[in-house]
Amino acid sequence: MAGLLGRFNAWRRQRVLGRNAIDDALWSELTASLDLLAGMSAAELAELRELTALLDGAKRFSGAHDFVVDARVRVTILAQAAVLILGRPKVGLDPFPGWLSVIVYPGAFLAHRVWVDDAGVEHHTAYPADGETSDFGPVLISWDDARPGARDTGTGRNVVVHEFAHQLDFANTWGDGYPILPRGMSPARWSEVWINAFDRFRASLGQPGRAAFDPYAASAPAEFFAVLSEAFFLRPDTLHAAFPDVFEQLLVYYNQDPRPRRGLATAQRSQPRPHGPLRWAR
Ligand SMILES: [Zn+2]
Repeated sequence: MAGLLGRFNAWRRQRVLGRNAIDDALWSELTASLDLLAGMSAAELAELRELTALLDGAKRFSGAHDFVVDARVRVTILAQAAVLILGRPKVGLDPFPGWLSVIVYPGAFLAHRVWVDDAGVEHHTAYPADGETSDFGPVLISWDDARPGARDTGTGRNVVVHEFAHQLDFANTWGDGYPILPRGMSPARWSEVWINAFDRFRASLGQPGRAAFDPYAASAPAEFFAVLSEAFFLRPDTLHAAFPDVFEQLLVYYNQDPRPRRGLATAQRSQPRPHGPLRWAR
């Protein structure tokens, strides 16, 4: 029976992949222009393309402020989200469970917060954001910050990685910088390493000089995990130098090593591109 079920699941997977196949020209354009994908091997890109197609079949998109979400928008966002799960074992038709929908804004938007102070008074605040997510709602993304070429290379910022790292964190109830760990990782060691690094980072902000990572990371352990996940994928050498023990934990957690990719990406950037400009106009 297990054999029959396995064959049935493989057949369903192939059907979903066929229905949501990504256009060759679009995929070529994204692999050449998304900084997060730069330097990936052919095998990694093939795996990523499959994960992206599965996600396209499993997730829902809508546009805010009349923004039109087409295949290019969906695939651009999903391909970047899929990088976070690239090292996971392949299971099921939804490889990134825990969230269902994405709302895409044309640019930065006002995020609203309601909070209650110690006196029990409710406060409503709004602030500009390029992304937002919660453990119960959709993922909100600014297209202007997620599209290819959105950030200058080398900044280490990526709104898609940030928001979807929060989603990984939410998988075990709430966002606290403590996601569900793969088998074999020690929860005690994770807590020790992250609490120690968080305290050191907060203390470093009081020192003269520029912080190695976005100071927003100091606002909460959940933000520290999301910002350092961005650094893991985009500035792994910087993260390794600043917090080698955090880097080692993320290496096992994400089950992939972005360092060779970043080395190749830097080498590729310094060479002229044979096919003309590949970055989109703003
Ligand atoms: Zn955040």
